[in-house]
Amino acid sequence: MSRPVKVRFAPSPTGDLHVGNIRTALFDWAYARHTGGTFLFRIEDTDTTRVTDEYIKAAIDTLKWLGLDWDEGPEVGGDNGPYLQSQRFDIYTHWAHTFIEQKDAYYCYCTPQELEAVREAQRAANQAPGYNGHCRELSAEQIAEYKRQERGAVVRMRMPEGTTTFVDLIRGEMQFDHKFVPDFVLARADGSPLYTLAVAVDDVLMKVTHILRGEDLLSSTPRQIRVYQAMGLKEQEYPVFAHLPFVMGADNAKLSKRNGEVSIAWYRDKGFLPEAICNYLALLGWSPGDDRENVTMKELCELFTVEKVNSSPARFDMKKLEAINGDKIRALTIEDFLSWVLPFLIKAGVISGTPDEIELVKRALPIIQERIIMFSEVPAMLKFLFVQELTIESESLPKIKDADAKVILRRSLKELEPISEWTHTTIEAVLRTSLIDEMGLKPRVAFGAVRIATTGGAVSPPLFESMELLGKEASLARISAALAL
Ligand code: GLU
Ligand code: ZN
Repeated sequence: MSRPVKVRFAPSPTGDLHVGNIRTALFDWAYARHTGGTFLFRIEDTDTTRVTDEYIKAAIDTLKWLGLDWDEGPEVGGDNGPYLQSQRFDIYTHWAHTFIEQKDAYYCYCTPQELEAVREAQRAANQAPGYNGHCRELSAEQIAEYKRQERGAVVRMRMPEGTTTFVDLIRGEMQFDHKFVPDFVLARADGSPLYTLAVAVDDVLMKVTHILRGEDLLSSTPRQIRVYQAMGLKEQEYPVFAHLPFVMGADNAKLSKRNGEVSIAWYRDKGFLPEAICNYLALLGWSPGDDRENVTMKELCELFTVEKVNSSPARFDMKKLEAINGDKIRALTIEDFLSWVLPFLIKAGVISGTPDEIELVKRALPIIQERIIMFSEVPAMLKFLFVQELTIESESLPKIKDADAKVILRRSLKELEPISEWTHTTIEAVLRTSLIDEMGLKPRVAFGAVRIATTGGAVSPPLFESMELLGKEASLARISAALAL
């Protein structure tokens, strides 16, 4: 009988979660949701020197922000907690001692210098580096002598001769010869657990059935399986593994800080939508089975299977993520768009958030919705609507100070003044007739000057709509002010 599916995401938050972590979390979540199973979230903070409370909080916030809700874990609790490994040290100590009693593990008294000397000798003899088993069968006298020397002792797992074989759902049958899996440390001399012990013990005690995680952890799998065995699990009780392909940067090296990987917090600050990030990351190594690029969270849950995950590395492509984000922004209702954009405008100091300002932003949104790929572009685009004193950007200044520009601006002012119904249609009609038809100017030149005078820059949302939003009085006042420059 198959067990109910339980998938876990188990980051070690030594920094903000990044693209690779989140791709893993997303696949874990999607697999749990697809199968109707449980999604468990565990914080692997055994390395207390590198994991901080701040990073833990940020990891929790990031998952929430992305909409990856969990059924067991921090904040929501569950029957298998606590879900922070730092609160489970006594559990790991218990198991380390049990393994010692069972003779699955032993105390190793080797000093770092001795271990280094072994590695040195192995290197010299062209052998695979690893622990040589020195303390496997120490005599009572040897142990007494080490204790007399006040040596610390780590707990080391005994790796029997042979091989470990398991079926990876993505890679097929995997085999590891124990010649290359030396006896490994479970707990440090001070009793604190290492990753392999904590992760394996927790996956068993928390009844995890599926481990979908990054390919970088593939080589730790035989060690984890060794811990399951020592805990008394039978092979059919082991969790099933699926190692996700690496995410590569544009330079074909594994994605890292150096070649483009940045934290999810960065994307959030830039104004990417969680749905867009999830949509894009879902396509890194997985495909819905056709070549569609727009996948909703709901579709992802419906369609996600591990069989459709590719075993070869996926390439991170910022342009594609931006395109998806732009598409999702265009699909927003104006109400939703407004609620996403307001915090960006307030943070940038463009508005303070009064009802009048919000009303004007709302009217302006339709003219920029087609034009942006992320929300952080909006403050610069709409700033001209909210400043009392318009500052013309320095590159554009010469373009409205010359004599030709003055002629254009003077004529525009004269023609615009009589307009009684100030709409983008009337503004456009008047300016086209006078500047293009009558004066014979090129639209780029004519409208360029008016644009700089009214919005302060050479790039702005559509000109006539911008002038309509700005209002007649302010538009004319700005043209006059430009004439005086
Ligand atoms: N805590 C580990 C890490 O962040 C991952 C544990 C696992 O998925 O097995 O690298
Ligand atoms: Zn030793």
